[in-house]
Amino acid sequence: MSQVDGNYQLQHPPKGGAVIRMYNPGFGDCFLLSFNGNDNNPRYLLLDFGAHALYTGYSPLLDKIAKDILSVTNNHLHVVALTHQHQDHISGFHFSEDVFESNDAKIDQLWLAWPENDQDPDAKELIRRYPKRFALKLAYERLETLGRVGLGLGFENILGFEGSIILKNLDKEKEGFLELAARYNNQRPYEFLIKKAGPPSPYLEPKDDPLLMRDVDEINFFILGPTRDISCFGGEGPSEGPSFSVPIIDKETSILIAIQAIDNVDNLTDEDKEKYWRSLPFERGSPYRVDFKKLKKLEEKGLVVKKQENSEEKKLLHYLEIKKFFDDNYGFSSIDKDALEYRKIDNDWIAGILSIALKNGEFVNNSSLVFAIELSCFDEPKYLLFVGDAQEANWNSWKENAKNIIGKTIFYKTGHHGSHNATLPEVVDKMPAGLVAMISVDEDWAHKRKPKPWDHPDPNIMEGLKSKTKGKILRTDQIPNINNDLIKPPEANNINDWNTFKKKVQWDQSGDKLWIQYTISKDSIE
Ligand SMILES: [Zn+2]
Repeated sequence: MSQVDGNYQLQHPPKGGAVIRMYNPGFGDCFLLSFNGNDNNPRYLLLDFGAHALYTGYSPLLDKIAKDILSVTNNHLHVVALTHQHQDHISGFHFSEDVFESNDAKIDQLWLAWPENDQDPDAKELIRRYPKRFALKLAYERLETLGRVGLGLGFENILGFEGSIILKNLDKEKEGFLELAARYNNQRPYEFLIKKAGPPSPYLEPKDDPLLMRDVDEINFFILGPTRDISCFGGEGPSEGPSFSVPIIDKETSILIAIQAIDNVDNLTDEDKEKYWRSLPFERGSPYRVDFKKLKKLEEKGLVVKKQENSEEKKLLHYLEIKKFFDDNYGFSSIDKDALEYRKIDNDWIAGILSIALKNGEFVNNSSLVFAIELSCFDEPKYLLFVGDAQEANWNSWKENAKNIIGKTIFYKTGHHGSHNATLPEVVDKMPAGLVAMISVDEDWAHKRKPKPWDHPDPNIMEGLKSKTKGKILRTDQIPNINNDLIKPPEANNINDWNTFKKKVQWDQSGDKLWIQYTISKDSIE
């Protein structure tokens, strides 16, 4: 098998079928799909293109991938689709922008899901409902103005997903990381693509009617997610109502307000100003200032005060709750600290934003564009399922309605690099025997993550997929060497099934292990 063969397939996709080329960006997603157009010429859809910023050595890979994409597509992508705003799915459009520009790449259409549309009322509501996301955005902007601040590894991990894009010298320039993080936020790839292709028209959302690629009438795309029901986006809803007359603000709100107030408290809205004062219980003059003398008295009493005994004790209990909030979140563990004029929130929010960013990560994953591609080359329609990094909440929003599709899904792009909560086993169970799966992952690298190894791919998910697919799983971290064969896994007990599959798989013959691909045509299935 030669590289020419692999490219030949991509440039001559079977009628009513598809060629799915999975690129290997290290840790990230990049899929080039090729379909046969009405005029028998290929049409190309590039789905995601990015690598995690912490992925050592990813930079030569991204440029090489960009060059390969442009060479096989003759510098013409008919559709670029992005699943969600995590940089391991989008960074290539910024990092390798030069490659696209110098080749004068043409992009006809951009496909994005509705949450990416700033003008969409539901997208606006999402921001309001999930202030964490807004806090995160502000935090990146503030990082730039604060300059160099020592950050823990945890924060870099999160920025790897959420923040900076360019970081060509990540290992050498940890400090520059911070500045770049702020400057190159994850809007850049979108700006580049919109400049090239114009904004999506329309932004995509689940619909009964299929979406079509221009000039490819035989292939239907069914958008399954993300749902318009924004309660399904994970993270937390609005905070619980206060149990006291003066509510304790939650940590996220406190941090958000603190970030907003850095420039000028007067610029806050009245409502936010009120929250701001409430977040400063140590400041003299604050109407919500904690009275530590009273607290001390309460503590001396052994803290045994029954609720609502009298208004004075009720108030003390309230103090106690406020104190606990600050003890827990800001490290003011001693009650002698009431001499402090300010709590250290203007620096502390950097640490606090960590937990916000983690929760936001789930939110962004659940905003993933999920679609099924209906192929017409079989006697009855079959489907390819692409789920981005969608987690459970996203799956739950469509799994009932998509039963018919799931029962005829012959190819599955494994969610979120094989993580535990991005593939619903009960859904995969309903897919037919003969399923083929792809996973973009680097297991060795994921296991070396600190402070905690990442479960990419999760062993249970892998077990389930292996038995369902009978070993027909293609992984970016298991692309064979040039002259080697695909290793036949023990699950591949039906030799005909395995051989049929193997015939449809090609991989990069340059030695770079840049891609592996699977061709689906009428004879792909036994
Ligand atoms: Zn991802």
